[in-house]
Amino acid sequence: MSETLSRPVTDLAIFGGAPAFPEPIHVGRPNLGDRARLLERVNDVLDRRWLTNNGRYVQEFEEVIASAAGVKHCIATCNGEIALEIAIRALGLKGEVIVPSFTFVATAHSLQWQEITPVFADIDPDTHLIDPASIERLITPRTTGIIGVHLWGQICDVGALEDIAERHHLQLLFDAAHALGCGDGERMAGGFGAAEVFSFHATKVVNSLEGGAVVTNSDALSTKIRLMKNFGFLGFDHVGYVGTNGKMNEFSAAMGLTSMESMGAFVDHNRQNHARYRRDLGGLAGVTVLGFPDGVPQNFQYVVAEVDGSCGISRDELLDVLWADNILARRYFYPGCHRMQPYRSYFPNAGLLLPHTERVSARILVLPTGETLAPDDVSRVCDVLRCAIEHGPEVSARLNASSLRRHRDVFAR
Ligand SMILES: *Cc1c(COP(=O)(O)O)cnc(C)c1O
Repeated sequence: MSETLSRPVTDLAIFGGAPAFPEPIHVGRPNLGDRARLLERVNDVLDRRWLTNNGRYVQEFEEVIASAAGVKHCIATCNGEIALEIAIRALGLKGEVIVPSFTFVATAHSLQWQEITPVFADIDPDTHLIDPASIERLITPRTTGIIGVHLWGQICDVGALEDIAERHHLQLLFDAAHALGCGDGERMAGGFGAAEVFSFHATKVVNSLEGGAVVTNSDALSTKIRLMKNFGFLGFDHVGYVGTNGKMNEFSAAMGLTSMESMGAFVDHNRQNHARYRRDLGGLAGVTVLGFPDGVPQNFQYVVAEVDGSCGISRDELLDVLWADNILARRYFYPGCHRMQPYRSYFPNAGLLLPHTERVSARILVLPTGETLAPDDVSRVCDVLRCAIEHGPEVSARLNASSLRRHRDVFAR
């Protein structure tokens, strides 16, 4: 690391140096697991000609997920967004539902898609999780529920959210898309609120290509959701409910099961990468990698760096430097849902009520990790960051005197 102290800025690819990586490295490059085992299952699906509609592997996958999350029921779906939409409908949400703005846009869209208004709450600036005090201020007679998001695999302040939900007679749902295998030290994500939703999208720690699930301890809710994800069919030719097609297919379940078998290895690998980021960037003024409490289950699928501006180079300038070196870091979840359409038009002044969301979303860089990135690769990412940050003012001045900028602030647009 010390040799980088003397590394000139001209070593950075954006100023003509050789890129740190010959090929782009991505945030969320899929973890694959045991290919032979996957192909065995795929062949078995083909041999049995049972491709979808509650097949053997979907049932097995549902059992594995329910058991990992310590919850009674799991209903697998074709993706996480549809799982959210179905859970929202099954819980009878309407009118307004309070959600954080600092989340993937699917959380808000799953409401708006069924003409329920997402009302955006602010976050705790340290954990980035929805702030219970902000929720209280947004409750109106039209509010029917709260969706908490276990962002970066950290568990929401469930006690405070349950208390608010109870006092105001609101339903409580969790978007646990980041939180498979995460817990608060007592319980695992999956068992909180009326229901929780997982995503098994290709970029998540465990993936089923596309996929999702609703998990719940409620028998009645589980029955309803099972009907809703299969057109409301009660039996052959017998529809008892309005439903949609939210079914997971057998290839997805085969991938999901195979991925679950390697989850321990994926998490171990991510844990090592996370520790390497923390070690290599520790003591570097201006950037902090979000840590997780010891002894609390965590999947380490996100490496979240906060750039505080004290190093003379902005987050977006750092991003340009990294991209030139083939390090495709991401600005999750910039600029916040309230700055995206259609919400931006509906609530043009929402930002005034969301000071922490505005500040945090302008400072976050999510860095690459996962099965395909070795800890020594992480050190190379950190070398680039260290060089750019140690020469922050010089890098910033050079970038702004040239036309090398790629990532721009979208706030002004
Ligand atoms: C990935 C994700 C989703 C959506 O999941 P899909 O399976 O891609 O539909 C929802 N919420 C959050 C917070 C996510 O990160």
